[in-house]
Amino acid sequence: MVRGVASRATSWERRRFFMSTQPLPIVSNDVSPIVPKKPPVDAASLAHKNLRRGPFWQKIPAYKAVDEASFLDHSWQAKSSITKVSKLVETIQELVPKGFVEDLEAGMKRAPMSVRVSPYLVSLIDWEHPYEDPERIQFFPVASRLLPDHPKLGLDSLHEQADAPVPGLTHRYTDKALFLPLDTCPVYCRFCTRSYAIGLDTDEVEKVHLRPNDERWRRAYQYIASRPELEDIVISGGDAYQLRPQHIEEIGEALLAIPNVRRMRFATKGPAVMPMKILTDDAWVDALTRVVDKGRKLHKDVVLHTHFNNPNEITGVTEAAMGRLFERGIMVRNQSVLIRGVNDSVETMTLLLKRLGHVNVHPYYVYVHDMVQGVEDLRTSVDTAIHIEKHVRGTTAGFNTPTFVVDAPGGGGKRDAHSYEYYDRDTGVSVYSAPSVKPGQLFPYFDPVHQLGAHQQRRWADPREQQAMVDDALSKARAHMR
Ligand code: SF4
Repeated sequence: MVRGVASRATSWERRRFFMSTQPLPIVSNDVSPIVPKKPPVDAASLAHKNLRRGPFWQKIPAYKAVDEASFLDHSWQAKSSITKVSKLVETIQELVPKGFVEDLEAGMKRAPMSVRVSPYLVSLIDWEHPYEDPERIQFFPVASRLLPDHPKLGLDSLHEQADAPVPGLTHRYTDKALFLPLDTCPVYCRFCTRSYAIGLDTDEVEKVHLRPNDERWRRAYQYIASRPELEDIVISGGDAYQLRPQHIEEIGEALLAIPNVRRMRFATKGPAVMPMKILTDDAWVDALTRVVDKGRKLHKDVVLHTHFNNPNEITGVTEAAMGRLFERGIMVRNQSVLIRGVNDSVETMTLLLKRLGHVNVHPYYVYVHDMVQGVEDLRTSVDTAIHIEKHVRGTTAGFNTPTFVVDAPGGGGKRDAHSYEYYDRDTGVSVYSAPSVKPGQLFPYFDPVHQLGAHQQRRWADPREQQAMVDDALSKARAHMR
């Protein structure tokens, strides 16, 4: 037990964390032989069931003496989160290879997002091989891996602000609105689509701030109530993990009271980066449960949306946390981002989806990486998404198979990655239309330049050629459009 940290994990939770699953004996009276139609799979190969358990955090020098009760304490996790390179160095000490810290310091100076990483995430990283580690890639930028932004990139590439009738409320799809009650998260992801607003200002970006504010929230409710077509509200941010329990209930009650609202989703990356909050923050979980229960009585759907990207993020702690929500009847869906080096292979994506299913989380979407400033090294092509989708479909149930989408830059909304009007794999330009969102408009998306052939890379270096490639793709898309 770390001094000064109260034990909040109950014995029930600890039991579940370490519990091993014993198969029940099955007895049948039928003696006729069973003829197998295919050879059985070796149980040891079912990697999605092999979750990290035990005190895995104790391999980190600063967490050697941290016991399970302390590690599972959500307030200890929040208080001990890493926000500076100096604190990371104190924490991991000699684990990283020479030169890495300087590389990280230089990377952070150029990043559009500030850094905040929980001890849970720090413990999942293989610090002896940090350059290849999927969690390091997502949360700690290193200068040596950064690449120039795509020439067509803009900061709010999804045009969320342009589609906002009230600050922090985006109304793009006819029946759905995105409500951003706050601008902080339990972790800051390098690839955040909302890097224009989320987290602290950085050397690179001065943010648009969306702080919790009763008056701003009231104007959002007023707008939602004034639009009878709005049925579906996403409460994101920032991150619903950061909302106080009374705010969860206040927002939940206010939205449930609006007759036209039929569905609500609280969006949080929390379960992927700090799952212990679900086990030890009873007030937050109880508040969410009350909103879900009230919604159920009103026949309105209230669910949690989360954001796992790599199978390593799902551990024994996650399993216990998701089990607690499942027991309370809280449905959890997942939205991943397709990220280079994190989940851009068939094997990793398949393992992620199977593991999500294993802990009762429904894979809902996989987003082709948005065009976000400062993270060109993380993006993949539309072709990669289509290839992975083809291979994962059929590996598990259809309801556990996500749709791979491109969130069309310029405000076209989510489009099935296959549904392009035109796609030139050589120039990397794909063009989407969104007839039910913005009829008649076309939305180009751009694969990363560094993954194209040498000739096309030279064309992207010339502004006139850039325009020619875009114009060509748009005119071919127009000719094809129905
Ligand atoms: S948790 Fe979500 S909103 Fe927060 S930084 Fe990460 S991607 Fe952005």
